[in-house]
Amino acid sequence: MAAISDRLAHSTPKIGFVSLGCPKALVDSERILTQLRIEGYEVVGGYRAADLVVVNTCGFIESAQQESLDAIGEALAENGKVIVTGCLGSREALIRERHPEVLAITGPHDYESVMRAVHAQLAPPPRNPYLDLIPASGIKLTPRHYAYLKISEGCNHKCSFCIIPKLRGKLVSRRIDAVLREAEKLIRDGVKELLVVAQDTSAYGADIRYAGAAWRGREYRTHMTDLCRALAELGVWVRLHYVYPYPHVDDVIPLMAQEKILPYMDIPLQHASPRLLKAMRRPAGGEKALRRIQEWRRICPDLTIRSTFIVGFPGETEQDFEELLAFIKAAQLDRVGCFAYSPVAGADANALPQHVSPAEMEARRTAFMQLQADISRERLRRFVGRELTVLVDSVADGKALARSFADAPEIDGLVHVRNAGQLKPGQFARTRIVHSDHYDLHAEVS
Ligand code: SF4
Repeated sequence: MAAISDRLAHSTPKIGFVSLGCPKALVDSERILTQLRIEGYEVVGGYRAADLVVVNTCGFIESAQQESLDAIGEALAENGKVIVTGCLGSREALIRERHPEVLAITGPHDYESVMRAVHAQLAPPPRNPYLDLIPASGIKLTPRHYAYLKISEGCNHKCSFCIIPKLRGKLVSRRIDAVLREAEKLIRDGVKELLVVAQDTSAYGADIRYAGAAWRGREYRTHMTDLCRALAELGVWVRLHYVYPYPHVDDVIPLMAQEKILPYMDIPLQHASPRLLKAMRRPAGGEKALRRIQEWRRICPDLTIRSTFIVGFPGETEQDFEELLAFIKAAQLDRVGCFAYSPVAGADANALPQHVSPAEMEARRTAFMQLQADISRERLRRFVGRELTVLVDSVADGKALARSFADAPEIDGLVHVRNAGQLKPGQFARTRIVHSDHYDLHAEVS
């Protein structure tokens, strides 16, 4: 058996893989890796051991583009044979200008073209059904206990600072039965937390007129509220990302209040001044968003809201910025990221007048983050003395790093659990919160 394995290992083409960008890009990477493994390729760490390297790039902002171009350069220097895919792949001329020796370039979520480019360089090995075992849900780049569930590709909005619709195209929703079957498979493979992602989760299904499909003997529409109702039946944590506060989102709040899905929403608001939101061409307004958030919290007081904002957008006046500060004081959001505006090549906002100076942008960003840090700390304080269920991410030296319903992996805070020697990663545990700081909670097993 060892001899057969050695022979197969020797003849198996080896692929190196670099995955950059957001959770949606991560899901693309997982699909490509799954296909590579299904076809019998071996995926290896490091450049030198690989026969060729696939780089899945990000093209969202200038710094991400630079990082992607640098990663391509590194892979070329270390290995020499490189296939590029992902968002930056939509800008072939830019890549070719810097790295003319790249073998092939494909755009985002174009798995077939990536595989065609791989086949052109390295034929897949013969299949061996006894050795080529992969989980039913495919290869995941996240830990075993949580997974991103991508429900759609692309976006129908035209936010002036964003080139995602140009890179990833218009909204294309996956039918609800396909999404639910994938969720079931992930759970069978050990996933305890599903992170629903899209460019605009609230718009799910609009492109296919909310097509209906049967799942477990019942009819569901390809629509955000039906998706939440169905996912709520699966008995795992369900966390919603990239939600826009449209009226129909009101319908999922009762599910959160009943703890059927996590009372957590990631809503990228970006600003609060109506004038600036218009210049940004954002799909939802500040005043309406505030009323909606307040009403949601009335129904579901524990609702945790994460958001991101841009300061220093072209034309942002002192008054616009004051409106933004007043909004975050009133909205009492839990987790907030704030970015200084950075132009993206190809975005319409670049042509807007009255760009804010870098020094002023940084001053506004600092003032914003100082105010928000106090709000976040106060919001966390409400948990002290309470019992919370947490999902354990890792355990070492008798302490666990875990997350509550209020913490998405990678981007939010953590619950540090002491006396946790008996806990295991991927396990739910009841804890009592004993202390809080700006971003994290501290707990003991109860
Ligand atoms: S909603 Fe706006 S920011 Fe988000 S992907 Fe679509 S165009 Fe870009």
